[in-house]
Amino acid sequence: METFKYYKPRSIQDAFNIIQQEGGSIRFLAGGTDLLARLKSGHFAPDIVVDLKSLDELNGGIRIVGQNVHIGALTTFAKISTDPVILEHFPALADAASEVGSVQIRNRATIGGNICNASPAGDSLPPLFIYGAKIKCLKMDSSRLIPVESFLQGPGKTVLEKGELLVGLVLPLPATNQAASFTRLTRRRGADLATINLCCQVFRNGPTRFAVGAAAPVPFIVEDPSGLLSDPAGDPAQKKALVEELMQAASPITDVRASKEYRRAMVVTLALRALKQSINSLEGQAS
Ligand SMILES: Cc1cc2nc3c(=O)[nH]c(=O)nc-3n(C[C@H](O)[C@H](O)[C@H](O)COP(=O)(O)OP(=O)(O)OC[C@H]3O[C@@H](n4cnc5c(N)ncnc54)[C@H](O)[C@@H]3O)c2cc1C
Repeated sequence: METFKYYKPRSIQDAFNIIQQEGGSIRFLAGGTDLLARLKSGHFAPDIVVDLKSLDELNGGIRIVGQNVHIGALTTFAKISTDPVILEHFPALADAASEVGSVQIRNRATIGGNICNASPAGDSLPPLFIYGAKIKCLKMDSSRLIPVESFLQGPGKTVLEKGELLVGLVLPLPATNQAASFTRLTRRRGADLATINLCCQVFRNGPTRFAVGAAAPVPFIVEDPSGLLSDPAGDPAQKKALVEELMQAASPITDVRASKEYRRAMVVTLALRALKQSINSLEGQAS
């Protein structure tokens, strides 16, 4: 591991002052579950590491503000998986959070770190795509709100500029005529990323949307606007054919986790499984 200077600022202003004074390359430290591995392997060799944990602006937890829910960047997956607001309004995000790593990882890993790490297999990403999350970013002299689809640029790449922080997320409260579910395939739960992960959202008598991870450089969204998939009485063979067509959007690679052929097959299986779960939970809700 290369040497670096470590700072733990007490305020955002202190953080920006350090960044400006030090110059050089920076890495932010949230839970450290991705960062420490990359520092140790030499994959990252920053001049400074700025620890974010004492910054109140990122520690805001989970709050309803008008028609939106705000989630602080440092909110852990342990918190997200059990929070009553998330369980009620964003159950697919709660499910994804409860699937991340092990108890130990979920107690440290943050949602902000998961997004900034920009792994194609990040488990928070498919539900955040489906729920229309926006990312709040802050620099020394400006702030911006970016849709999650535009935030991710490729494996490990985001639109964050040097010294720019992800401070939190804004999710609109979802409509009542929809239900979403999350599912994933992994080799070893607790110790490995998803081979495929997927979120499906069904609108009553309306469209069905899928957000798929680990099957392209960044997660992607596809939609059936016809209502065929959301119809509980729809013909299963027709549904399967339509899902296969939609999943042509996948461009998986072969890596240590799976071959591209296996991923192509499993993305359809997972989509049909998540579709069934979403329809069941919509049917279970009072109309
Ligand atoms: C054993 C193990 C199992 C895992 N299992 C899963 C899994 O099942 N699913 C999954 O999705 N991930 C998994 N991970 C990966 C990791 O735990 C997650 O990606 C986690 O959410 C990262 O969050 P963190 O707070 O630890 O980020 P960190 O490691 O602190 O940071 C990650 C990256 O984001 C940057 N960063 C962090 N916060 C900010 C911010 N607010 N603003 C700007 N940049 C920031 C850092 O500089 C770094 O480049 C696993 C990791 C391990 C070690």
